[in-house]
Amino acid sequence: MRQVLIAPSIDPLSGKNRQLPIEEVNAVLQRLGVPQDRPIITQVSRFDFLKDPMGVIDAFRRVRRSIKCRLVLAGGTASDDPEGEKVLGLVKERAANDPEIHLLLLPPNSDLEINALQRASAVVVQKSLKEGFALTVAEALWKGKPVVASAVGGIPLQVRHGYSGLLVHSVEGAALAIKQLLNNPAYAKQLGENGREHVRNNFLLIRHMREYLLLFLTLGIQEEVVRFDGKPF
Ligand code: UDP
Repeated sequence: MRQVLIAPSIDPLSGKNRQLPIEEVNAVLQRLGVPQDRPIITQVSRFDFLKDPMGVIDAFRRVRRSIKCRLVLAGGTASDDPEGEKVLGLVKERAANDPEIHLLLLPPNSDLEINALQRASAVVVQKSLKEGFALTVAEALWKGKPVVASAVGGIPLQVRHGYSGLLVHSVEGAALAIKQLLNNPAYAKQLGENGREHVRNNFLLIRHMREYLLLFLTLGIQEEVVRFDGKPF
């Protein structure tokens, strides 16, 4: 069978991605109990081993040896994922009530919260061990954020190392990349801007719709395709 690959996309007008006034971002962060006194490093992900939340905590602790910052791990436990509770338990243990690590257990439909957390972040991390596409990366890049992410699954489609973010392969690599961005805001800003343009061109729903329409067009000109009602095209 012929196969067609169409990458996912994000909706820039959805609650999770729409522009937010700074006052709204600040209000959400205050409500979630995350002080904005230091640069915030964020990973938004289900609590799942494959998202490596423990690795993110370890990387954060390495960064904090030399730079004052906070870590936000925000996510829910998917109802179809029996391991979620177990992972959350291990993450809590690893965080050990560290006042600079904020574990936020988000209920479903926390679009505004995710939007605000991504916007309030100095660096967004996606340290997955395996990944499908990683919509969270597209969401962060669209908000012009510098991203540090593992070179797995669909992430390299979105992050070109040193152009639209930094790709990493280990806890040590992630810590180094986060430090590089926190120490060099101009570089971080440039990566974020490049990332936003990359998402604008490739991962918004406009491109998604164009590819769907083109797919249907190519199906229509294949002789073996017939309409469900049996009539020719
Ligand atoms: N997300 C969410 N709530 C959470 C964690 C994640 O709404 O508690 C969203 C996140 O913003 C993204 C999606 O769920 O839009 C996750 O997609 P991704 O491709 O990054 O990872 P998956 O969970 O599908 O492996």
